Amino acid sequence: MVVEQFLEFGTAVNIIVGSHVWVEDPDVAWIDGEVKKITNGEAEIERTDGKKVVRKLSTIYPKDVEAQAAGVDDMTKLSYLHEPGVLQNLKTRYELNEIYTYTGNILIAINPFQKLPHLYDSHMMQQYKGAPFGELSPHVFAIADVAYRAMVHEGKSNSILVSGESGAGKTETTKMLMRYLAFLGGRAATEGRTVEQQVLGSNPVLEAFGNAKTVRNNNSSRFGKFVEIQFDKHGRISGAAIRTYLLERSRVCQISDPERNYHCFYLLCAAPQEEIEKYKLGHPKSFRYLNQSKCFELVGVSDAEEYLATRRAMDVVGISKEDQEAIFRVVASILHLGNIDFAKGQEVDSSVIKEEKSKHHLKTAAELLMCDHVALEDALCKRVMITPEEVIKRSLDPRSAEISRDGLAKTIYSRLFDWLVDKINVSIGQDPNSKYLIGVLDIYGFESFKHNSFEQFCINYTNEKLQQHFNQHVFKMEQEEYKREAIDWSYIEFVDNQDVLDLIEKKPGGIVALLDEACMFPKSTHETFSNKLYQTFKVHKRFVKPKLSRTDFIISHYAGEVQYQSNQFLDKNKDYIVPEHQDLLCASKCSFVAGLFPSLGEETSKSSKFSSIGSRFKLQLQQLMETLNATEPHYIRCVKPNNLLKPAIFENDNIMRQLRCGGVLEAIRISCAGFPTRRPFFEFIHRFGLLAPEVLEGSYDEKVACKKILEKWGLKGFQIGKTKVFLRAGQMAELDARRAEV
Ligand code: ATP
Ligand code: MG
Repeated sequence: MVVEQFLEFGTAVNIIVGSHVWVEDPDVAWIDGEVKKITNGEAEIERTDGKKVVRKLSTIYPKDVEAQAAGVDDMTKLSYLHEPGVLQNLKTRYELNEIYTYTGNILIAINPFQKLPHLYDSHMMQQYKGAPFGELSPHVFAIADVAYRAMVHEGKSNSILVSGESGAGKTETTKMLMRYLAFLGGRAATEGRTVEQQVLGSNPVLEAFGNAKTVRNNNSSRFGKFVEIQFDKHGRISGAAIRTYLLERSRVCQISDPERNYHCFYLLCAAPQEEIEKYKLGHPKSFRYLNQSKCFELVGVSDAEEYLATRRAMDVVGISKEDQEAIFRVVASILHLGNIDFAKGQEVDSSVIKEEKSKHHLKTAAELLMCDHVALEDALCKRVMITPEEVIKRSLDPRSAEISRDGLAKTIYSRLFDWLVDKINVSIGQDPNSKYLIGVLDIYGFESFKHNSFEQFCINYTNEKLQQHFNQHVFKMEQEEYKREAIDWSYIEFVDNQDVLDLIEKKPGGIVALLDEACMFPKSTHETFSNKLYQTFKVHKRFVKPKLSRTDFIISHYAGEVQYQSNQFLDKNKDYIVPEHQDLLCASKCSFVAGLFPSLGEETSKSSKFSSIGSRFKLQLQQLMETLNATEPHYIRCVKPNNLLKPAIFENDNIMRQLRCGGVLEAIRISCAGFPTRRPFFEFIHRFGLLAPEVLEGSYDEKVACKKILEKWGLKGFQIGKTKVFLRAGQMAELDARRAEV
């Protein structure tokens, strides 16, 4: 689709014998060469690697031989706009360590996979402060600066949306943005901790508990995050709120080589000896939840140092020493829980704690959680059944007891994580009188793996939502503006994804709703759920039933098709805590632990009512979109140049795919095709009136005056709307240059 649309631009330049062109190549995406011969709409090209190929004229693109050696800092300045041109520009810049490039207002950031300290030092921050956008090299600071200025001058909230796939650099970018905003909106150092110090301190705490090494990223965020920085009327930071989304729970109990569990477990195992003894810990390899993978250490990272750093960050965000002690006690208890094994009991389908070693871990876990170890054993191995006649205790077989154990571990961990987020929010404090805010979103990018489950479904759903927001902003707003101003404009088509969103979230009848229905029927299985989907969406053009599977389903997302395995959807959508677990921990003698499991009252605790993770997530997303819609958005698209996580490797195909998924190619096209610069008449006259003093003296109305100024300087292709002047790419710069001469 995109390629076809680019053709409009590509073919505008005639290709003749001797032209330098780009031809498609399966390995490197695009390679350049020279046209040697043209016959019947086909060209014979000698590629720079010496290979000769014949290609249809419609598939080759002219190469800008006069392209600047250092590339251009904004794609809209490219003389020839097409895929290979965009790619070449990014590559040229990346080789010079210029990792940032604009596409109009969108910032593309290519992960350098190496430290570039000078790029983010305080001198750099000083430079960007208040500098007009586009004057300095593209930078995250420039985006934060624009957002901040817009907020202060227009009194409107802004948001910065950072997206990209795992390992692309979202979290690092977010941290830079936060640092810069703290720099702009911070107070002079006063007694005690400032709000901005706390805001920055939240990062290491959340990373210790919410990040882990995966195959894609050694420090992968396993949750989504929206940080809302509140400002007072003087533009100073006055409060902040952090919202998090969908922590990956399964990682607590299940990891595969060479990934790791959440960092905090390893940090604690590397804590000072005194703590190791207190929590009866040892090498990570002695714990089931950690030794399923052979990766225990991270190259270049000292867990012992990180442990101390995390403790310091916890001090900064205002977590008391007492709470810190309880937090790590809970973390240790999870490791011990994981080491409890079960064996068959004497009765049919029952289980007992296996061997002395397991008993030791059971006792330790109970001690750390400050609950009774017999009660813990019961909660793991037995279930209370309430029948009309009596209340009976039923035993679980060893496999079910293991599931019960893992369920408990996951619940404790996710409650702990939520507690941390709440605590940080309370401690930083919200400013009820805040005038406006800047929101920074760091959320998982589109995912398509060999095996895709409920998590990928939710992640991709998020990305559909954000893509729509992006579309609406970049495209719809653009078109609506042209329409409002009655400007002659041939509408450029763009891929609208409302139909995918309907498929997922429509109520009733969308996938989330059907999943909830399935979860509420005791007899449902993933087969019945999948069948229901097949029936309901038989003719939906975004839904496909794969030929070779009876339970998988495919969604045709904006970024490509993803095949989902439905077998764990029902389980993963159900969020309920086993009442026995709830009762056990609610009764803990440790107020911290009991506080993680507040009593739910008689009703809910008995019926263990199902609550839907999918629906809750949908609601959270709706709220997020409402917040975002009330702000002026800015976009940063992070790109991962290679899957080896190494510097200086630029994989063309990989990068092209990410630019396409992030809508960058679409945005470039629309921005160049339309009128990227627009100014209200009075503003235009104010700025450029001095280019034509005679016009100002004549008593023309504003509209006519604008036209006369533009005509005087020979500009072409611009448009005069009802209230604004619309300029083609580059025209503003031209006028500015003239102005400087006058
Ligand atoms: P995930 O979705 O898995 O959380 P992410 O997009 O948040 O991924 P980051 O954790 O921000 O990715 O980045 C991955 C790694 O890339 C970092 O740990 C760091 O080593 C490197 N990196 C990212 N951005 C930069 C940068 N601007 N300068 C130097 N290194 C960077
Ligand atoms: Mg991250």
